[in-house]
Amino acid sequence: MTAFKFCPRCATPLADREFAEDGGPTLRLACSADACGFIHYDNPTPAVGVLLEQDGEIILARGAGWPDGFFALITGFLERNEDPIKGVIREVKEETNLDVIETNIIGNYIFERKNEVMLCYHAIVKGDIKLSPELAETKRYQPHELRPWPRATGFAVADWMKSRGLEVTFIDRPLINVQPKN
Ligand SMILES: [Zn+2]
Repeated sequence: MTAFKFCPRCATPLADREFAEDGGPTLRLACSADACGFIHYDNPTPAVGVLLEQDGEIILARGAGWPDGFFALITGFLERNEDPIKGVIREVKEETNLDVIETNIIGNYIFERKNEVMLCYHAIVKGDIKLSPELAETKRYQPHELRPWPRATGFAVADWMKSRGLEVTFIDRPLINVQPKN
């Protein structure tokens, strides 16, 4: 699945073309004009995911338009040339009004469905919550009450729990197809 039909350089239609690469012949979407040479590599997009902690409690958020009971990390895309930690601080402020006072990397996780790499952090925060229109509500949990979902940022929650010596019980839940608007 790709969003691109035309070459972003010369507007010629893109087509599947075979390229000789180290791993063998590889089909890639590429410009059909020989003189152009554009290849759509479809590289993943990096994004940050943040597990918020305030006064020993974890705060998860439900996105606007998500079903009831679906809570997850604060997430957002990095700006051009933005340091990931600065991106964490900015996204948390924009979406919740909370101030990040400490960050710890949890790890990097592949979000296959959206072709993203989530750089996931645990962040200690202070302040009062004021939600942006992107979020519907937040919910506070004791760390041991967290029930991670077996996808992308859910694995970050599980790894953070393990790092605290907590027992992890995954819950499954359907994919969320309703996306909040930017
Ligand atoms: Zn082209």
